[in-house]
Amino acid sequence: MRLPALAAALLLQPPPPAPVPLGHGAYLVPRAEPPAVLFESNGAFVVGERGVTVVDAQFTAAHTREVLAAVRRVTRLPVRTVVVTHAHDDHVSGLQVWRDSFPDVAIVAHAATRDDLAGDYAARRRQLVADLSAGLGRYRALLAEGRSPAGRPIDDEERASYAAVVALGEGYLADAPAWRPTPPTRTFEGDSLALPADGTPIVLRHLGRGHTAGDIVVHLPAAGIVFAGDLAAWPVPLVGTTSFPAEYAAAVGRLRALGAAVVASSHGSPLRDDARLARVQTLLAAVQARTAAAVARGETLEQARRSVDLSDFRRAFAGESRVRGALFDAYVAGPAVARAHAALTPAR
Ligand SMILES: [Zn+2]
Repeated sequence: MRLPALAAALLLQPPPPAPVPLGHGAYLVPRAEPPAVLFESNGAFVVGERGVTVVDAQFTAAHTREVLAAVRRVTRLPVRTVVVTHAHDDHVSGLQVWRDSFPDVAIVAHAATRDDLAGDYAARRRQLVADLSAGLGRYRALLAEGRSPAGRPIDDEERASYAAVVALGEGYLADAPAWRPTPPTRTFEGDSLALPADGTPIVLRHLGRGHTAGDIVVHLPAAGIVFAGDLAAWPVPLVGTTSFPAEYAAAVGRLRALGAAVVASSHGSPLRDDARLARVQTLLAAVQARTAAAVARGETLEQARRSVDLSDFRRAFAGESRVRGALFDAYVAGPAVARAHAALTPAR
């Protein structure tokens, strides 16, 4: 690359995310990507007296290294523990950055997350690489033409959203040739695990199945802080194809019952009151109840997809935004009704 072009590219790069102190040695490293079908996760870490505990890795190695750089702006202590909140790419794909940087690091997850990672995760990665290899060109073309897949002009929010998909997808594809599995080194099966004492006490809590089978939240009880993974995601709840709608509402209820003053999600700004979690719990309970009513009427999944009306929640979470509406359809309405319907329908 010629130097002027390189300088221009560097000028266009957003600055790396800075650590935001939450108190008691806890920090959030917020991502600035706009809502899009591909997500990147906020970084998070807790500085103890002898070492650092990190929450999750990122979707790309480069973004995981940005979190490491944010840690280094606060402390020279080694990262001793990485907690994996669940087995989704935007939380685990960059794990080898932590392993390579700190060979003795403990990678801690719930046993169900270990099983998810040992199960079809590698196949899902291969599928995503294939989908992105085939699909990013289409996003680039839509951006260049300024139109949506349906052919209408895109608005500024959609433009930013498509651009985020291209940038994140390109990063993921760039990582793919050198990517290798980085499994947890320690797992637990029960509902909680206290990490070894080192400064602010840290308790990992499995609040039941919800967003996935193995979600854990990172609770700092003395600080009133919880890192909640994807249980309280923004801008729409991430119910998704690996969720358990019947149990998800109860898991969010247990998260609320922790009574933390700050609930830091992997996506979006930290929650400092209970209102959004209450709304998420109400949505999840409604998905379950409305799908159960459809099943009780003898409806097939296709019939239930038409009859279960979540437009009240779509309005509440997405407002007039096309991007957020599309995310609600993709991550809530479609998969939630399907997962709830499958769980309520005895296998034949
Ligand atoms: Zn997730």
